[in-house]
Amino acid sequence: MAYINDTYLDLQGSYLFAEVQRRVSAFKTQCPEASLIRMGIGDVTKPLVPVVIEAMHRAVDEMADSNTFRGYGPEQGYDFLVQQILRSEYQSKGISLEPSEIFVSDGCKSDMGNIGDILSDKNIVAVTDPVYPVYVDTNVMAGRAGSIQANGFWSKLVYLPCNAENGFVPELPKEHVDVMYLCFPNNPTGTTLTRGQLKVFVDYALKNNVLILFDAAYEAFISESDVPRSIYEIEGAQECAIEFRSFSKSAGFTGIRCGYTVVPKKVCAYSRSGKKEPLQALWNRRQTTKFNGVSYVTQRAAEAALSDEGKRQTSEQVAYYMEHAKLIRSTLEGLGWQVFGGVNAPYVWFKAPEGLRSWDFFDRMLREIHVIATPGVGFGPSGEGYLRLTAFADTKSTQEAMARVAQWKR
Ligand SMILES: *Cc1c(COP(=O)(O)O)cnc(C)c1O
Repeated sequence: MAYINDTYLDLQGSYLFAEVQRRVSAFKTQCPEASLIRMGIGDVTKPLVPVVIEAMHRAVDEMADSNTFRGYGPEQGYDFLVQQILRSEYQSKGISLEPSEIFVSDGCKSDMGNIGDILSDKNIVAVTDPVYPVYVDTNVMAGRAGSIQANGFWSKLVYLPCNAENGFVPELPKEHVDVMYLCFPNNPTGTTLTRGQLKVFVDYALKNNVLILFDAAYEAFISESDVPRSIYEIEGAQECAIEFRSFSKSAGFTGIRCGYTVVPKKVCAYSRSGKKEPLQALWNRRQTTKFNGVSYVTQRAAEAALSDEGKRQTSEQVAYYMEHAKLIRSTLEGLGWQVFGGVNAPYVWFKAPEGLRSWDFFDRMLREIHVIATPGVGFGPSGEGYLRLTAFADTKSTQEAMARVAQWKR
């Protein structure tokens, strides 16, 4: 008889987007002529930039010729891409890493989910709240989350609330933790930490032997100079942090699939017998066993995205989305609402006026102006009373949605 991994039965249904869809469909049946604008999109909408397309075409032609055809590549990624990452993303910022500390993958979500393979199920895990659901669900699957409580919190996870009261800067955990997920610029709130604020977490991690898992998926959207683009800009982070990066949002690779994870050799965790073990070696072992690398064509595409011309072209796309974020921010602020994010990230997070709850305000926006937001409470209990709008819709839709918000007679 085969037995299942019971932790999968503990998982909560992906309630948020299913419930959004259910309410939208119900409204459409009632009001078929309403023109709905989706401002909850979490996916890029612009096509790949020309240099990336050219690189991919060239790579396909190489695969069509027996002299240049490639089969299995290195599980950790081709050297041409690893070197390009080191040069354009780290050396340029004065950060020194070795090629063997970079692991190319099919995206940041897989790596953030899989990293738990090399960590004990005894670890006490901290997450910010609201949170990207992947961190929570993968810890439920690993049996590290305990059981779900009536208030929506998992019994064994430590939650670090981020809200208007603390300026979306989480406090350090009051209880013991072993592993901490940080995502800055943040999804869903769009807020960031300054170098000084992130240093507090790095210092804490070094002092308390905590492992930081740092999600830098939105690094390309940073516009302010005191916001770090990599956690390794902070002294000591190469001893306590793993960094996850993605080409998804920065270069429109959500459908192509490519990311990379940085595991510095100095980052260690402890074995059962109390011995310090470098995580780079374990991650290498995990990847070479369970992963067979990213396609050659994709890695050439990623290399092109990081070239000087690729950076120029992709930064135009980022600027296009960030124009939308600016318009969303200024429209909501103009109404006197409390608005956060949208300066270093493609997400604007705002407080529902008049103290309304997330879902109640979601329903009013849907019914009265036909604009679809995402209820903040869907990202965790501390998101109650907030909503998220994204900058990924096209310009015309974004302008039309904001015109409706501005003229809304509530
Ligand atoms: C979109 C996103 C990612 C990127 O995931 P990929 O698997 O690389 O597409 C990672 N983290 C967060 C918080 C995201 O929103």
